[in-house]
Amino acid sequence: MELKRRGRDRAPAHPESALALLTRLALGCVAAAYVHGRVQRTRLIEDLVEQRTADLDRTTEALRLHQRAIESSANSVTLVDARSPGAPIILVNPAFTRMHGYGPEEVLGRPLELLAFGVDDQPGLHELRNAIVEGREAHVLLQLRRKDGQSYFEEAYLAPIRNEHGVTDYFVIFEYDVTTAKQYEAALEHRARHDMLTGLPNRVALADRIDRALAFARSDAAPVWVAVLDLDYFKHVNDSLGPAAGDRLLRQAGERMLAAVGPTDTVARTGDDEFVLLFENRADESQAAATVSKVLAAIAEPFGEGGQRVFLTGSAGIAGYPGDGGDADSLVKHAQIAMYRAKESGRNTFRFYLPSMNERALERLAMVDAMRHAMNAEEFELHYQPQVDLASGAVIGMEALIRWSHPQLGMMRPDRFIALAEETGLIVPLGTWVLRAACSQAATWQRAGLGALRIAVNLSSRQFRDAALPALIAEVLRETGLPATSLEIELTESLMMEDVEMAVATMRALKAMGVHLSIDDFGTGYSSLSYLKRFPVDVLKIDQSFVRDIGQDASSSAMVSAMISLSHELGLRVIAEGVETQAQWDYLVGRGCDEVQGYYFSRPLHGRDFERMVREHRQAA
Ligand code: C2E
Ligand code: CA
Ligand code: CA
Repeated sequence: MELKRRGRDRAPAHPESALALLTRLALGCVAAAYVHGRVQRTRLIEDLVEQRTADLDRTTEALRLHQRAIESSANSVTLVDARSPGAPIILVNPAFTRMHGYGPEEVLGRPLELLAFGVDDQPGLHELRNAIVEGREAHVLLQLRRKDGQSYFEEAYLAPIRNEHGVTDYFVIFEYDVTTAKQYEAALEHRARHDMLTGLPNRVALADRIDRALAFARSDAAPVWVAVLDLDYFKHVNDSLGPAAGDRLLRQAGERMLAAVGPTDTVARTGDDEFVLLFENRADESQAAATVSKVLAAIAEPFGEGGQRVFLTGSAGIAGYPGDGGDADSLVKHAQIAMYRAKESGRNTFRFYLPSMNERALERLAMVDAMRHAMNAEEFELHYQPQVDLASGAVIGMEALIRWSHPQLGMMRPDRFIALAEETGLIVPLGTWVLRAACSQAATWQRAGLGALRIAVNLSSRQFRDAALPALIAEVLRETGLPATSLEIELTESLMMEDVEMAVATMRALKAMGVHLSIDDFGTGYSSLSYLKRFPVDVLKIDQSFVRDIGQDASSSAMVSAMISLSHELGLRVIAEGVETQAQWDYLVGRGCDEVQGYYFSRPLHGRDFERMVREHRQAA
């Protein structure tokens, strides 16, 4: 823009007008002399001759100056003959040669069109031709080729030069090289429409492409598919490997996606770890699904990063035109809603959008808001479920289980909000609150003479991945005065398997403080027994699903029995969860299980009920 404006300012005034001015000046002098009378004619003629000579000198000087100005101009100046067919070139300055690569001898007398050789079909040239025919001014942008073939951009100003009868006999053309400005503009344009990290189109370019695809689809009634793909747990990967490695993985993921789709399909990056696929020519759901499956499979292949194998997966949601939306916004929004559903159903998978999902999405949004509010309004509370030593029958500890006392929905169990808190990151402040409240309660009970009760606290994956976790736990123990050995952290197998190295390091740090570690829901995750040895855990919690089937299903009973002996071989304590019946209790006693937790002994209780229960139980014993 700047260049353009400067160019226009600098364009010299019409050379003809300067000459006209000078001529008028000379004529004016003659007239003035005549008026002064003829008496002093002789002397005056002498004066006049002197004056005219001076005028002429000035005119010649002015002409020379014009010529020098044209010659030394940094911009190309060309004079063409308007009266001859083809508008032949009759004058060029040295800048012309620098710009076009042609010397004067190559162009003088040749038609102006010569300069547009090979690039003669562009709007600027048509306008220039019309202006020449109509004898008017023109200002155009052209992309031309130098004599050596190099392409460049220029702005050209065409001005007619009229004679005293008002007839255009010449045109003057000023040309300015704007290649740098154009390249800069193109780079800016690229930046505005592409994601800098992966080079993929961004949200802006994507919206355009969807609009274009929809315009075509409307006329031939063909479907258009939009799939939103979000990498699973990518933030953890980024946190643990560092942002540089994270960036490399994102780039590679982008490349793989691009390679997995067709040449006319689009892969855009629209967020940190969110990508959007746009594809046509897939007649139905099954063809669209095939494309998305292929992309997910491409991501799921292990990545090599820093000599390490890194596993990434993605979850995708698909929306199709015309069924799921008629514009870019609603297609992307619906695909996103379906993507969240894919995440909920276990990740590394895809879902097609269904209108019923929309209500759920709104409900979820409202839920997130409500959860934020609940933290400030102190609507969360902890309930405690006793853990009983099977040998002595004594309550030796309790698991803290969160509850949300919602003003309208009543007391809510964690299943209804923990996953959402995980997804939105709210679990971090919430989990910190749980840890603090649980430790504080346990310390209070210890001081109140309830004995060395141990408190078990559940940790979500997000919290466990936080590098500041050991420091946080140390701080909470210090604050509350709870001995580290009275705190047991419950981790799930899948959480530990996300990044084994990191998990082991964090677990060691916690163990070094004296904190106990347990594997929750054992048997439902990877259940790799060889891995079990690698993790510095103290306790194994047999999942409720096995305990429930004791006595009903022989293989479950056998499994429980095997888990107990295996744990003991590894030096671990065993807790059976979800014990609801006397039969289950007896079976576990018979197999040497250490502890039990379940409705048979007690449901999770409010703090004051728990305290009363423990005191009464102790008196009864
Ligand atoms: P979990 O860690 O496996 O907790 C045990 C769940 O089983 C609890 O459900 C408990 O009420 C229930 N339960 C205990 N005994 C029995 C029984 O005999 N029969 C049956 N059918 N169920 C029994 P709850 O309190 O709804 O918690 C569900 C899950 O929510 C927990 O599963 C845990 O994964 C998560 N959770 C609870 N509190 C927290 C927390 O503070 N932080 C995090 N991150 N997750 C939590
Ligand atoms: Ca638990
Ligand atoms: Ca459990």
